[in-house]
Amino acid sequence: MVQVQHLSEQERVRLLTEWANQKLLRQSERFDLLLEWGKRQLTDVAFPERPFASLYDELRVRTAVCFDGNKRFQLVLGDLSGIQSYLFAVAHIGEGGVAKRLRSRSFHLALLAKTAAFYILDALCLSYRHLIMTAGGVFMLAVRVEDRLEPIRRELDRYLYTRYHGALQLHLASQTASMDQLSAVSAIIGNLHNEIQRSKMQPARHLLMSDQEERWNETIWLHERRAGAYCASCRRHPVHGDALDETLCEYCSQDERNGMALPQSQSMWIGRKISEESLNRALSRYGKHAGVLWDRYDVWLMRDAGMLPDGMKDEGYWERWVNDSFDVSFSSIVCWVNNAHISNYIPQMNGMPIHFEGLAELSSGKKMLGIYKADVDRLGLLLSYGLRSDQGDFSFAEYLKASRQLEDFFGERLTVHLREKFPHLYTVFSGGDDLFLIGPWSELPDFAIWMRREFEQFVEGNPEVTLSASLLFVPPRAPIATFAREAERLLEKAKEWANPFRKVNEGYGRNQVALCGITAEWHDLPVIWERAKQWAQWVGSGVCSSQFIRKLLQLYELRETYVRDGKVDGLRYNALLNYAIRRAEKMAIKDELKRERETLIGWAESLRRFPNDDAARDWYLMPAVYRLFAAYQAKEGDL
Ligand SMILES: [Zn+2]
Repeated sequence: MVQVQHLSEQERVRLLTEWANQKLLRQSERFDLLLEWGKRQLTDVAFPERPFASLYDELRVRTAVCFDGNKRFQLVLGDLSGIQSYLFAVAHIGEGGVAKRLRSRSFHLALLAKTAAFYILDALCLSYRHLIMTAGGVFMLAVRVEDRLEPIRRELDRYLYTRYHGALQLHLASQTASMDQLSAVSAIIGNLHNEIQRSKMQPARHLLMSDQEERWNETIWLHERRAGAYCASCRRHPVHGDALDETLCEYCSQDERNGMALPQSQSMWIGRKISEESLNRALSRYGKHAGVLWDRYDVWLMRDAGMLPDGMKDEGYWERWVNDSFDVSFSSIVCWVNNAHISNYIPQMNGMPIHFEGLAELSSGKKMLGIYKADVDRLGLLLSYGLRSDQGDFSFAEYLKASRQLEDFFGERLTVHLREKFPHLYTVFSGGDDLFLIGPWSELPDFAIWMRREFEQFVEGNPEVTLSASLLFVPPRAPIATFAREAERLLEKAKEWANPFRKVNEGYGRNQVALCGITAEWHDLPVIWERAKQWAQWVGSGVCSSQFIRKLLQLYELRETYVRDGKVDGLRYNALLNYAIRRAEKMAIKDELKRERETLIGWAESLRRFPNDDAARDWYLMPAVYRLFAAYQAKEGDL
């Protein structure tokens, strides 16, 4: 076996030519039309004995795992890891064009996983009907029992290593299964996930070891560093001569062009690299070339979803992002057609993405950005165990339905709502069960509250399926990689640490929101946010002074010395609060504000109750309330 990373140029050309000359089996198979019909007609139809699974998902499974009457097949799970750290390895949030690049960079990465699945199917001469699902950086497909994945995986590894310098890794796991097992797949799915986890513990193992003997391969780590200037955005690749912006490499400037083309596109075509210059020119009337993946797939962002130009009809994959059914004329098209949704929403002005500084400008009060990161708690476990019926297992179709619904929720449903309700929020990524948004900080609390409610409705109040999130408020020109990691760290905290008010028997994390140094229950978030705005209003209208609010924060800190460190001296907070309230009462104010002041005094008095759970919770939320209050009431130009 030839080591993939040592392929000579000649061998590479030969392999690529062979690949290009294959007669693709999928050209004669139009299962896409069947599946699309099923999606429209069978999604709400189920077997009486399996009410959760729909006939559509059954159809998808059967279509995918069927190989010429053979009852057995291999199920393959692929996972592209390193996506998030690679995604954020662009210099700074606020650097002019980052808003143009970030969304398309995450789009590119999701596409990389999807095309890895195509690559495997194409290399094995299999139809795209065997692709069972793609979500975020994960894909699942079925191949024949005798198919060997190892040589293909090495090709993919070699490409990833050359192009992404080891920042991204593809993990593959496979399991042989039979048609008889389709009604109980928990063990198979569990094994696949475990194998992926094991593979992640040993990243790049395949690059390090040669095939026959287990020895370290030193040569592949020696990356040639070329002379000349390096890209201002990723700092990994040299500046490209033809780049729009002379400080960017070819990839970052491609990201920038795609970032502008994406919101204007209605569909995407992926197919074999078109090397003919004249054809490329002709096609550019219909869309924009969006890059080459795996050295062999051309990606085009197409303006229209209603037609496909000649030159693209005959092969490849066409994904339509509009919500209408296929036109009958599509039956003249040979390539694989799919209706899908991508969460491509980003805020724009005059057809251009709004810079992050521009988004920060849209905030109330202090001009800051907010980062929102969320994901579903224990999703892997949930999909493996949560689905189990009384028989103690779940069918493949049920598994697919659950992941399809999540994907619909985080993809389609969310994108529509963002556009209508929260038009200033920028989707960095939204896929699988993961969500990362950036926007004006003052719009994020409302979004987070809304999103939680929406999610609860989506899972129909099932207490086992929960969401955790972190909110982070940062200056508009903050280094994004650092803050993305911080948002991740906070999210982990929300998942692992129970807030102090949870009862002992629910003393775990999850189903919480982390912000401004605390981890809170979801129902605390509206309290924090409303109180912060109320404080700002009190101070603004003269009901109390801002010194009074600052005093509350000081007393919180004093009280903490008692609560946290057990210092009895900290209990002085109570007498000091009493004193502050009595002073506030004496402040002369207009008659029409007196009722508001009674409300304020009443609430402040309630903080003196001790020991008292409600008062303790109000104190606990205090630093977050203060932080939002301070940002909310800041004047224009304050930073
Ligand atoms: Zn770059």
